[in-house]
Amino acid sequence: MNLQRRHVRLFAAVLTAALIAGVVAGCGQRGPETGGRILLIGIDSADWDIIGPLVEEEKLPNLTALVESGVSCDLHSLEPKQKSPTIWATIATGKLPDKHGITDFMDPLTKKILTSNVRTARTFWDIIGERGMTVTVIGWLVSWPAEVVNGYMVTDYFRYSPKPDRPLPKHLTYPDDLRDEVELLRVVSEDITEEDLDRFIDLDAAMTADEAQRLPIEQMFVEMRGMSELEQLANSLRDILAGDRTFLSVARHLMRNRPTDVSIVYLRGVDSASHKFWAAAHPGEVGFAVSRTESRVFGSTVARYYEYADEMLGVLIDEFGDGTVIVCSDHGFEGPKPGQTPGGINDHGPIGILVMSGDAFKNGVRIPERSVRDVTPTILALCGLPVGDDMDGSVIEDAFEPDFLRSHPLRRVPTYERTE
Ligand SMILES: [Zn+2]
Repeated sequence: MNLQRRHVRLFAAVLTAALIAGVVAGCGQRGPETGGRILLIGIDSADWDIIGPLVEEEKLPNLTALVESGVSCDLHSLEPKQKSPTIWATIATGKLPDKHGITDFMDPLTKKILTSNVRTARTFWDIIGERGMTVTVIGWLVSWPAEVVNGYMVTDYFRYSPKPDRPLPKHLTYPDDLRDEVELLRVVSEDITEEDLDRFIDLDAAMTADEAQRLPIEQMFVEMRGMSELEQLANSLRDILAGDRTFLSVARHLMRNRPTDVSIVYLRGVDSASHKFWAAAHPGEVGFAVSRTESRVFGSTVARYYEYADEMLGVLIDEFGDGTVIVCSDHGFEGPKPGQTPGGINDHGPIGILVMSGDAFKNGVRIPERSVRDVTPTILALCGLPVGDDMDGSVIEDAFEPDFLRSHPLRRVPTYERTE
């Protein structure tokens, strides 16, 4: 009798252990319930119209491979045009700005910078983190101060170099002490050498003073201004590169030494380079005078920067290993129209990019346009989780393999928001 009871007890213990293991796998790290591991790379401003010709020239091998192995589409941005942090907050929450509360870089009334604690909707990384998936979030706009996540966060402010009169704020990372570990990985403008710039610009093509003097007087002034601005433009490029290199290096370090189920990396350089150097590539289209010097030296910088972004993509994918890769942008880029003030959202185009490649998704298929609102619902579906009824986006169903949807039927919950 005693022996039998002991067997029953042992059986119960084994069953409990199995159940716990099953539950853990279900919340899971690598199990099929979660769609496996995910790498999401946000490339601000990436635009198919600029990507297309570069793909034709075989200059973007990593993005091309993702498109060929996955599903891709136009990703409609918010309308009317919004600033980047607002759109990235929609991408991260599946909600429109009236629900997520991130309306700008700065609060239009108080003129104070907007901070992550202004956000009034939960992000997908918070939702999937709560269900046991581990996450790393790097460089996301308006992510400072770092939030508590089930993993690691390095905020957008981490990239700025501390100055004696402007020390960097606290809570640049989560956990706080991660900062010491990644501090040495920060790249600052001064680290970027002439050789680093060589691939993006052609300094030798600058107009000489002799050449400029032979021009009609009005053109000569344009050229002289162009030459005087050369250094400033080159320094802008240094700053842009330093930002992307910082987050690339942090991402590699964390993926290698502290791997998580989900890695999210935001890269701003394509957007900044497009704003700064678009006019050089399209001098006749922007409605203001562009010097020949500027167009000769920086005429290819935007295209070269896309190539660099593709290299970063390759580095991140290699480091990440097997799993689903998602690349998206918040809007496209059209450049300023004649009569418009250049810069800011005037330069942005309405259509960004989305590419998703992994076991759950179709192979080499182009699907109809979707919206930045749909990214979070789609990631939740990929993780086998329901979509919130209060989200403004929906799952991009036609991106998934039918088998995946059969084994992971789409579900809904009223909300993920915490009601106090
Ligand atoms: Zn943007």
